[in-house]
Amino acid sequence: MRDLKHLQYFEDLLQNANNDLVKKARADGKVCAAFVCENTPEPLFNLGNCFGVRLFAPNTGSMDVATYYMTSFLCETTRALLERAIEGGFNFADCVIAPDGCTMINRCIENMELLKAVESGSDRFFYEHMELPFKADENGVRLMEVQCRNHILTPLSEVYGIDVSDRAIRDAVREHNEICDLVNRIGDLRKDRRPRITGYEYAVLVLSTYVCPKYLLKDRLSETLEELKEREPDDREARARLVVTGSEMDDPEFIRLIEECGAFVCADRYCFGSLPGRKRIAMNEDEDALTQVCRHYTYECQCPRQMNMEKFYGRKAYINEIAKEYLADGVIYDQVKFCDPWAYERLSGSTALREEYGYPVLSVDRPYNIRSSSGQMRTRVQAFIESIEIKKLREGKAGTGGKA
Ligand code: SF4
Repeated sequence: MRDLKHLQYFEDLLQNANNDLVKKARADGKVCAAFVCENTPEPLFNLGNCFGVRLFAPNTGSMDVATYYMTSFLCETTRALLERAIEGGFNFADCVIAPDGCTMINRCIENMELLKAVESGSDRFFYEHMELPFKADENGVRLMEVQCRNHILTPLSEVYGIDVSDRAIRDAVREHNEICDLVNRIGDLRKDRRPRITGYEYAVLVLSTYVCPKYLLKDRLSETLEELKEREPDDREARARLVVTGSEMDDPEFIRLIEECGAFVCADRYCFGSLPGRKRIAMNEDEDALTQVCRHYTYECQCPRQMNMEKFYGRKAYINEIAKEYLADGVIYDQVKFCDPWAYERLSGSTALREEYGYPVLSVDRPYNIRSSSGQMRTRVQAFIESIEIKKLREGKAGTGGKA
């Protein structure tokens, strides 16, 4: 397919957490609120004169210093984030707000705070630690509300004078939904048998909406959508259409590796992905905005942190729905090395998707930076794709891979 006009632009933005758009927004006099988890309501970081970015550590090499403080048994994501913070890679942030998404992210941010690793040079810099619900129910919504008020809205308002009114939240949700609509319209193109966008290109676009100020992304995302409508798809279908699901994944090179093996990544149900990370937030005028935002994040969450059985079984059913909607032949369950929540979810999920829903499943754990062991992963993905092709030949049919 013809190269996308802005792909290089978006790829360049992902080479550094302190990217050109973050620098531009700060030069515009905006306050930068950094967060680390998909369960924290993103619009609450984009209120008034504030913009939110999710921290990531692109092109991570050594994690030795972070491993000294956190041991080698903690997930590579948290060690990469701490290492990058110690290197000064997050000194653009005016605050870091972190939930107890898991014990490892707790340890990571506590170490950042104890080591004074993120210092924007402003004496107003602050860290906030908040709780998240373990269950998706109305009690959970109320807990999320109290936590967001105490650890996001109040400190942003008191320290930086950010407008945290109901109106400001509604404006931020409107902007958030504009980005979600653009991303979802581009993402729907993946439902075609011969899609006009690759899974890698889509991963690059989606990731940029997490790590850049949203108001500076709209134009190029809109242009890309218009360009895609005219783009000629490849003649041939991919050897296999795959859903990738799993833990924190902010390295599009992992998606590129899978697609270089001949597959098409048709859906991204992972932390930092678009499903459900870029689902638009439904709002009404009857209830206050904060409650509605908290309800969305409590009920839409697909993180294994949530332990009520409706969610435990619901996460597998959700992947089955996605696989059907995007005509997937198989599922890749992936987990960052030593990620606890996804260690058990990967096991229960890959078993359920294989045995109950009948999909071919590849279950892998991977390093934070895939380039550090791409050879092994490539071999496993190639073997997986071949097994799907053989299955399709035997059954004389193409996707979906699951039970009818
Ligand atoms: S990747 Fe897993 S262990 Fe690491 S911070 Fe995320 S949920 Fe926690």
